Amino acid sequence: MNRRDFLLASLAAMAAGCAARAEAAPAKRVLVAYFSLSGNTRAVAGFIHKALGGELLEIRPAKPYPAAYQASVDRSREELHAGERVALVPLEMPDFDVLFVGSPNWWGTIAPPVETFLRTVPLKGKLVVPFFTHGGGGLQRCEATARAIGEAAGARLLPAKTFPGGSATEAEVAAWARGLDLGTDPADIADVPHGAFPLGQPNVANAKWFSGRSWVAPLTGMAALNCPIANVTFEPGCRNNWHRHSGGQILVCVSGEGRYQERASYRRPGRVLLPGDIVEIAPGVEHWHGAAPGKWFQHLAISTNPGTNKTDWLEAVADSDYRTIGNKRKA
Ligand code: MN
Repeated sequence: MNRRDFLLASLAAMAAGCAARAEAAPAKRVLVAYFSLSGNTRAVAGFIHKALGGELLEIRPAKPYPAAYQASVDRSREELHAGERVALVPLEMPDFDVLFVGSPNWWGTIAPPVETFLRTVPLKGKLVVPFFTHGGGGLQRCEATARAIGEAAGARLLPAKTFPGGSATEAEVAAWARGLDLGTDPADIADVPHGAFPLGQPNVANAKWFSGRSWVAPLTGMAALNCPIANVTFEPGCRNNWHRHSGGQILVCVSGEGRYQERASYRRPGRVLLPGDIVEIAPGVEHWHGAAPGKWFQHLAISTNPGTNKTDWLEAVADSDYRTIGNKRKA
């Protein structure tokens, strides 16, 4: 078995919190580019930028639109009918991997300056996330136009998102942006106290068994040792479902504050986990682990008996169970 096969096999058999993704990738660079006249698209772009970080770029036509909204829209209609490319104020393009591109819906499609932008910026190999603001028209041809231009240029596109003009809230936009699979960790990862160990990749493979976001970084891979160890990071409040490992598991707590609990029938109280704590989980014991409320948490997950170890996922953890641990008034 070569190293790659070993890694994949190990990870497949591995304990909770370990996705079957063995290759680390560098963090993706996010660019949020937008054109806005009324300010609606600018507001959404700002919320995305605030949620994910990266660069923010305003697309501006070389010939400014009239201040009056209707006059601008009328001009854009003429531009659309003329089919000519609208010139832009020259842009200083930062390097990027993921492009969020925002436009108002004008005449059922993307605004001419945004079309010029998409047709002139190199998009080969990039991930493009279009977003639109509208005054009641919804997507119409906005998404199809952006997709056609982007795919012709060699980009991959995520589904477009629309926001009714002026009504998008920061929380709504941030939840959408952070929930996207950009193939990488969002930029607010800079805030994660991950100390000495790498953060790794979003835990996509097991996401449906986690109550929030988590990341996994495989740390070992030598086949002769047969001892898979991964660093698992939980965002505040995130825990996994009840589950059991047929070959058991060891958790080595490395940063933040976590929680651990076994079924009440085992008569062992739930635990508050701090750096340096060790949790030995016997084969077949039903349990869950994760971050404390409001706290990031990281543990190393060591897959014991990895040759045959298998994880069975059960139901989500009740809030009443989760909240009781560490609450001295109820202990
Ligand atoms: Mn476990």
